Amino acid sequence: MEKIKMTTPLVEMDGDEMTRVIWKWIKDELILPFVDLKTEYYDLSLTNREATKDAVTVDAANANIKYGVSVKCATITPNRQRVEEYGLSEMWKSPNGTIRAILDGTCFRSPILTDFIKPFVRTWEKPITIARHAYGDVYKGTEYRVPGAGRAELSFKGEGGEEFKKTVFDFSGPGVLLSQYNTEKSIRSFAHTCFRYALDTKQDLWFSTKDTISKQYDQTFKLIFEEIYESDYKAKFEEVGITYFYTLIDDAVARVIRSRGGFIWALKNYDGDVMSDMVSTAFGSLAMMTSVLVSPDGKYEYEAAHGTVTRHYYKYLKGEETSTNPMALIYAWSGALRKRGELDGLSDLVHYADAVERSCIDTLKSGIMTGDLVSLVDGSVKPFKVTTTEFLFAVRANIEKNLEE
Ligand code: NAP
Ligand code: MG
Repeated sequence: MEKIKMTTPLVEMDGDEMTRVIWKWIKDELILPFVDLKTEYYDLSLTNREATKDAVTVDAANANIKYGVSVKCATITPNRQRVEEYGLSEMWKSPNGTIRAILDGTCFRSPILTDFIKPFVRTWEKPITIARHAYGDVYKGTEYRVPGAGRAELSFKGEGGEEFKKTVFDFSGPGVLLSQYNTEKSIRSFAHTCFRYALDTKQDLWFSTKDTISKQYDQTFKLIFEEIYESDYKAKFEEVGITYFYTLIDDAVARVIRSRGGFIWALKNYDGDVMSDMVSTAFGSLAMMTSVLVSPDGKYEYEAAHGTVTRHYYKYLKGEETSTNPMALIYAWSGALRKRGELDGLSDLVHYADAVERSCIDTLKSGIMTGDLVSLVDGSVKPFKVTTTEFLFAVRANIEKNLEE
């Protein structure tokens, strides 16, 4: 069979630990035999981020802006323990945070649904897509470990001379302090990207914040969404028959659990981070959650929602076979290649991406699956637990079959 041609390179961002191992397996088994793969490769492993003083992350994000589409492996966000483990000169920031800040994107996370894995929440029939604002707030916060008594103040000096100063707290002893920010530009892009994505996918859009407590910060998000909806999207939403709905985050949580799914839930950065883990776990497995970062000017970064699966990696290093689920990583590749195909008018590439996803579902349907899914399938499928490589071999065989048809 002749390999499928590409015209524009895909920006490839490699990562860490178990996902880095699986990354290569996916390329070798599922992509390179079928596609004449063109990528511009960036090694975002913690070792290389240290070696390049994290410049590689910025270069990768800029390449994403240049070419439009990237696929990213999971990467370690260093904490104190990692600084020791890897002998880091600095506690480098989260690569995802850096890339999101450069692309000013919104992260959409949706579960991969099958009809034989039932969500823990019995009422959910359709996917719930989390739209996470991927800029600012606590991810770009300035923190301080207050050593002892003293006054904390919040101050602003405008270029036009306006000044704001307020006492945050008079500490009588040690404590902690955090300031965070967002920009109106980013909140507006977030709103536009969410409204457009809702129109594209014909799903209702929900948005929730804690505006009753945060009367300036969160309230600003709420008002900007309202204003943009009224001026730019209300008529289009009515035409397509979808709705925009704002509610307090506490109320949203209760409604989401009782809902049937099938909508986009837009959330601020931290809320989206936490809720997407909750929603994906409730849908089955973190390994069945896909993620795409969309910038306001239409740049895409595809990734899995899970991390580097450290516990499995340590087993792998000891020479043990692991049953780590590669589904979300495979979907990151298929999603990115499909988008590349759509943008470049390569119908073969689009067809291949569809075949990859169909082959994954066919494999699961035949009962071949990794350990995390075994206890989740209903009676219609008899599960056989396999290792990651065995799963990939089975998917490859199905791709060969599906591409012939
Ligand atoms: P994690 O890598 O997502 O893994 C947490 C647990 O979830 C695993 O131990 C495993 O459970 C299960 N799991 C996740 N993905 C799985 C898969 N594909 N197949 C089977 N089981 C899976 O999260 P973490 O352990 O909190 O974080 C590890 C590292 O990843 C950290 O250094 C963190 O900074 C990084 N991280 C990166 C990203 C990213 O780049 N997007 C996101 C999150 C975390 P069992 O152990 O019970 O099998
Ligand atoms: Mg998270």
